[in-house]
Amino acid sequence: MSDATQTHGANGGRAIAFDNSYARLPDIFFAPVDPTPVEAPRLIAFNRPLAEALGLDAEALERHGAAYFSGNVPLPGSLPLAMAYAGHQFGQFVPQLGDGRAILLGEVVDRAGQRRDIQLKGAGQTPYSRRGDGRAALGPVLREYIISEAMHALGIPTTRALAAVTTGQPVYRDRVLPGGVFTRVAASHIRVGTFQFFAARGDTGNVRVLADHVIDRHYPDLKGADRPYLALLDAVADRQAALIARWLGIGFIHGVMNTDNMTISGETIDFGPCAFMDRYDPRTVYSSIDRAGRYAFGNQPMIGQWNIARLAEAMLAILDDDQDKAVEQANAAVGRFMERFQDHWKAVIRAKIGLGAREEDSDQDLIRDLLVTLYEQKADYTLTFRRLADAAEDDAADARLGALLEDPHALTPWLAAWRVRLAGEPATLQDRAAAMRRVNPAFIPRNHKVEEALTEAVDHGDFSLFAALNDVLARPYEDQPAFAAYSEPPRPGEEITATFCGT
Ligand code: AMP
Ligand code: MG
Repeated sequence: MSDATQTHGANGGRAIAFDNSYARLPDIFFAPVDPTPVEAPRLIAFNRPLAEALGLDAEALERHGAAYFSGNVPLPGSLPLAMAYAGHQFGQFVPQLGDGRAILLGEVVDRAGQRRDIQLKGAGQTPYSRRGDGRAALGPVLREYIISEAMHALGIPTTRALAAVTTGQPVYRDRVLPGGVFTRVAASHIRVGTFQFFAARGDTGNVRVLADHVIDRHYPDLKGADRPYLALLDAVADRQAALIARWLGIGFIHGVMNTDNMTISGETIDFGPCAFMDRYDPRTVYSSIDRAGRYAFGNQPMIGQWNIARLAEAMLAILDDDQDKAVEQANAAVGRFMERFQDHWKAVIRAKIGLGAREEDSDQDLIRDLLVTLYEQKADYTLTFRRLADAAEDDAADARLGALLEDPHALTPWLAAWRVRLAGEPATLQDRAAAMRRVNPAFIPRNHKVEEALTEAVDHGDFSLFAALNDVLARPYEDQPAFAAYSEPPRPGEEITATFCGT
């Protein structure tokens, strides 16, 4: 018996105040299943500030973290379950996916009054495991920890990392790897694929039950709407359009935008083969399983729209009693996605180059010319914009900017045009530069730095680089000169060309 079991009554009983609304939905929504215990769990990382924000007993959870976050000791009040869902994977519909290696422990209402899921990932098999072992390798667990917390620090809506443990057990992939369990926190784990699960069975009643649950939970303002389900479709489309625009702003490539990996809440989820682009090229793909480049950097808006079209299809039966009208409404909503994306993207990119809200006709050309030059010059996406912020207040910074390009003078005419345009804006040079630094990060999780930290952890059991990387990435918009090496693009030979799925 573990330490945590013995001391349950003393503190574990109050560690988390669960309130499990998903478990109160009809049986077909999930399968109750307990985590499968592991041999020798060890707590690698615990996110104390997040635990506190969730209103949890951080003391008790950290003290017994290995037992709780491995699933070895049940958290009192949890109702462990695997969620049912379907999904389009690389364009192919799979009617039954579901949590094959994730187990939802339950929900808590955090200090801000927001309901959040707490889920273990890699905690053993479930009725939806198909041929999988229900486990996760340590590398992908640490990767999700690093990237999801970095996304949060970058200000991008995302699921969060509460804890990571090693299991003391091997998992068998293309080689034998140490196992891990990841504890994920999300506004919810409901996906486009959850709607598809019921729609594919012709179960209109439960599509409606799900839609009502989602409105209650994520979009309460829509309750009084004229057509709440159409309004829901529009609202999800808008959050996804905004999310993808934010991804493009920081060079994020999700890598596996299947409909089962797109949340209804608008949070980024599932950090399998994701990566951050170094050199600017919209065709960039890292995922080793994405040979056709379906999920390339620049395809993400189009895929977002494609996924929203699948959501619209799944909701068709509840949009309108007259199915012809329902199709019309669905098509219009899908069409609006791209307009919304364009608006969100415009706001993102204008802020990145220091433009205010007042638009001029020439702005579009200015933006396009910059991106074309970055592409032609094979410029590092992150550093170029960061140094552009310096150039916004001091011409002397132009040389450092030029050093990022193949031809150091390639941006000179553009910089001149940009400065003429900015001269018409009211902000002071200092204020503009500061505002640009708040949206153009100095630090992103560079693929080669992430790989380095994971290799140390997985191959040598040394978690110091993992911890150091997390620390730097917690303040991505600050210069942190002591950690300049983390802001640099990979040198020749350091480049990561492929990332692998976390399974
Ligand atoms: P993902 O690519 O992580 O989004 O997973 C796609 C589907 O495969 C989901 O239904 C997962 O639950 C399932 N899956 C992935 N890895 C495993 C595993 N090791 N064991 C069982 N199911 C898995
Ligand atoms: Mg997934």
